[in-house]
Amino acid sequence: GHSSPAKMVKICCIGAGYVGGPTMAVIALKCPSIEVAVVDISVSRITAWNSDQLPIYEPGLDDVVKSCRGKNLFFSTDVEKHVAEADIIFVSVNTPTKTRGLGAGKAADLTYWESAARMIADVSKSDKIVVEKSTVPVKTAEAIEKILTHNSKGINYQILSNPEFLAEGTAIDDLFAPDRVLIGGRETPEGQKAIQTLKNVYANWVPEERIICTNLWSAELSKLAANAFLAQRISSVNAMSALCEATGADVAEVSHAVGKDSRIGPKFLNASVGFGGSCFQKDILNLVYICECNGLPEVANYWKQVIKVNDYQKSRFVNRIVSSMFNTVSGKKIAILGFAFKKDTGDTRETPAIDVCKGLLGDNAHLRIYDPQVTEDQIQKDLSMNKFDWDHPVHLQPINPSSVNQVSVEADAYAAAKGAHGLCILTEWDEFKTLDYRKIYESMPKPAFVFDGRNVVKADELREIGFVVYSIGKPLDG
Ligand code: NAD
Repeated sequence: GHSSPAKMVKICCIGAGYVGGPTMAVIALKCPSIEVAVVDISVSRITAWNSDQLPIYEPGLDDVVKSCRGKNLFFSTDVEKHVAEADIIFVSVNTPTKTRGLGAGKAADLTYWESAARMIADVSKSDKIVVEKSTVPVKTAEAIEKILTHNSKGINYQILSNPEFLAEGTAIDDLFAPDRVLIGGRETPEGQKAIQTLKNVYANWVPEERIICTNLWSAELSKLAANAFLAQRISSVNAMSALCEATGADVAEVSHAVGKDSRIGPKFLNASVGFGGSCFQKDILNLVYICECNGLPEVANYWKQVIKVNDYQKSRFVNRIVSSMFNTVSGKKIAILGFAFKKDTGDTRETPAIDVCKGLLGDNAHLRIYDPQVTEDQIQKDLSMNKFDWDHPVHLQPINPSSVNQVSVEADAYAAAKGAHGLCILTEWDEFKTLDYRKIYESMPKPAFVFDGRNVVKADELREIGFVVYSIGKPLDG
């Protein structure tokens, strides 16, 4: 059976990334009697997980890892050994958007996923519960079942869907006290037994009523649906911000008034330069593709618009900067404060900062970038890579190779701002709220502009100092 009480349950997680690392560290912490191995094909990632410099920055993560590592939490590149030994195998590999071939620009690329499944089939010698942790298209469990059962050598595999809802920047808190844990499985007795085995793992710290059990397709689709709803909320408020700027309404006041409606609720209603991160766009595109494949073009278009509004918000922001600065930023220094896609992470995947910086470089600006958690290498890499254009998957936006020379990465906000014509806040890091803006103002040519893409500064105070301030969705300076 799967959970014979005599022997220690062994868990293996394939993929030691932003999801695999933190989720498994928390399982190890909360379940001292379970042995957890997190494996990855990336040697550098595993080396970092075993060092003092973890590969990802996440508040609270260091403590959790340090208290379990070497006891019941192990990071290894010996993928096959740990998969062979495990009772429960989580698959938490990356599932990016396909960049070529059928479904390019929308469909999920399941290459990594399939190779993990085939490897499980190759090395397994005992029954396994295989858990989808990655976000995958609905019906992926059927595909993995086919791969496993056609190669099964008499081994019984049960597939579960257990999508992860953590948010980067608050991953450890989210994992300690999740709103819900979702487990989908087959309705057969074996399927239900597998659900129970996984439920028993979470029951070590998650209250029973927060563990939701569903069929496989509901679990797979719920993850895509949750991300689509969250992104839609941001695009809704950002769409309103454009109308606020045009009419003199204040988006913060509108959000407050709207959020007071208990059916709507106050969270996740902040206007900004746009959403980023590796998931929202990818998962909505995935949803769009699934709708199209199922003959539902109107539903597909509905969700597509969420991304279009997000793209519009970013280009609107760039246009506002350029038009405010007398219609050109050519040769002007612009300080970029924040590059990560949100605060408390060093993750830059799909960060709006990439689009904003490229837009400004397109107008020949010189950028002085500062982010407390993103390395210079990462910033230079992000800005020199061709960005994949989901809307026109065959055309890649050309990049100007000389523009990298127009980018410097600075050690702090003051160094970035010195001599800059404008200050552009792209991540809501707490430290940007309490900078000495008077000192910054004095180090800048006049008029000195602030473009607050996250509405974190106190615009009135900055105006008093002398800045010209643009906040998203607020009445404009005269
Ligand atoms: P990631 O890129 O940080 O990590 C994936 C890891 O899998 C990489 O280290 C890669 O080397 C490894 N890998 C790929 N193929 C492998 C193989 N065959 N064998 C072993 N290792 C392999 O990605 P992530 O951000 O952790 O996301 C993983 C999944 O979780 C994605 O499907 C994502 O959509 C989903 N998800 C992400 C978040 C988030 O906030 N990042 C939240 C919820 C869900």
